[in-house]
Amino acid sequence: MCTVCGCVDGIPPTKHADVQNAQTNGQRLDHGHDHHGYHHDHGCSGQDVRCARSTDDGHDHHDDGDRQAHREQALVDCGIDPAGLRVVGMSSERIIQVSRDILSKNNRIAAENRARFLADDLVVYNVLSSPGAGKTSLLVRAVSELKRRIPVGVIGGDQQTSNDAERIRATGVPAIQINTGKGCHLDAAMVGQAYRLLPELKGGVLFIENVGNLVCPAAFDLGEVCKIVVFSTTEGEDKPLKYPDIFATSSLMLINKIDLAPMVDFDLNRTIEFTARVSPNIEVLPVSARTGEGFGALYAWLQKQTAHRRHVVEDTRG
Ligand code: MG
Repeated sequence: MCTVCGCVDGIPPTKHADVQNAQTNGQRLDHGHDHHGYHHDHGCSGQDVRCARSTDDGHDHHDDGDRQAHREQALVDCGIDPAGLRVVGMSSERIIQVSRDILSKNNRIAAENRARFLADDLVVYNVLSSPGAGKTSLLVRAVSELKRRIPVGVIGGDQQTSNDAERIRATGVPAIQINTGKGCHLDAAMVGQAYRLLPELKGGVLFIENVGNLVCPAAFDLGEVCKIVVFSTTEGEDKPLKYPDIFATSSLMLINKIDLAPMVDFDLNRTIEFTARVSPNIEVLPVSARTGEGFGALYAWLQKQTAHRRHVVEDTRG
């Protein structure tokens, strides 16, 4: 099954499972997008969902080769270490090659995004967590404060609904929702497309709220300055050991729901120790999106990143 639109062997889902629902101020976008080497056309009416591999000769089709490639793509899409896979009828070398192709294409588009963000003097954060850690609540509080001082925008990813973007927009901050359907992460092409729908944010901050998932998003560069992982006190202290990639690739870990720590016997020192094992240089800030605890330190950290980035840019330009 295609992890993006849910088609199986080229047969579209009977329900409209994948509408990339880019919305701003109520506007919806009809579009197609290239995703992991496949071109997906999605009509937002829900009546015309197609998932077909675009070939060099311009024909969209699902022959046996396409189906095989499609199955392979679905297997590697979730960031599974191909070396650990045993798949009947498929060599691990072939899986690794598909995985490399997907990531190298994504990295090219991420570099384009990064250049555009730089030209727009925008600091961009890729915010990651498991579902329910509190990314949206945290962003609602942060953007409500930050918008008084600088331009702020949000791009959010979820499999379905525009609930998160609506919560952000209720603060007066522009937000674009991306629905990934069966997809488990945002990729650079999706973000590039959504960014074009935002108003100008020159000199400000853009938060990309990724799909709630502690595995796949770690592998996909979106063009951000850095990743921020949101961990919550209700998740268990050993999450960093179980899902090390997301912590190893992040510059900051926010430990959210710190106000609940006494109720759930959360051990902060143990969590920090586990995190340091997989990500020695990560910075850690305990926060509470509910009470606002720790947000002063978060704003100071964001300000430090902006100042550092401007310093680096000035140095580069001489
Ligand atoms: Mg959310």
